[in-house]
Amino acid sequence: MPNPTRNSLMAEAIGSLLGELDPEPDREGLLETPERAAKAWEYWTKGYHEDLNSILKSFKDGSHGYDEMIIETDIPLYSKCEHHLADIFGVAHVGYVPNGSIVGLSKIVRLVEHFARRLQVQERLTVQIAETLHTALEAKGVGVILQCRHMCMEARGINRPSVITTTSCLRGAIKDVASARAEFISLVNGTKQRQV
Ligand code: ZN
Repeated sequence: MPNPTRNSLMAEAIGSLLGELDPEPDREGLLETPERAAKAWEYWTKGYHEDLNSILKSFKDGSHGYDEMIIETDIPLYSKCEHHLADIFGVAHVGYVPNGSIVGLSKIVRLVEHFARRLQVQERLTVQIAETLHTALEAKGVGVILQCRHMCMEARGINRPSVITTTSCLRGAIKDVASARAEFISLVNGTKQRQV
């Protein structure tokens, strides 16, 4: 939910930042930047203010006996690194083996968004998505693979473009049963399309 007090505090802070960054912080092009950037940051961190339960509430759908692995690949992901406030972007591949409950496919996209839209490190984001899905669905197994680019690494630091960082978090049967693990990996490799 937009919070007017927080937004005006953020706008004030961004105004101070502009004063340090730019020799002419009062020029016309920057006049509305504090308010505009505050709204953008509100959106980029909206995951903090969403009710996770309202996403998870509708998790229980009838699976009608479906007990094979379900995978969604190439879910777009946008986040911010907590060390530099720089962009992290890429894709998520999420799979699970149901245990009586399945979930609407758009809920997985919302779950990724919920944890991505905040200050993050990729490793924690991966675990949060996997563990939340595992617990909420009581799934037999869950697998999450993220492939992301980090602007703090590409546009500064080592300045190496297009480095893709891959993280994974496997739970339950997808972690413990070799055949389920192999199926997950091969389904992800067979269906993913997007070049990060
Ligand atoms: Zn960073």
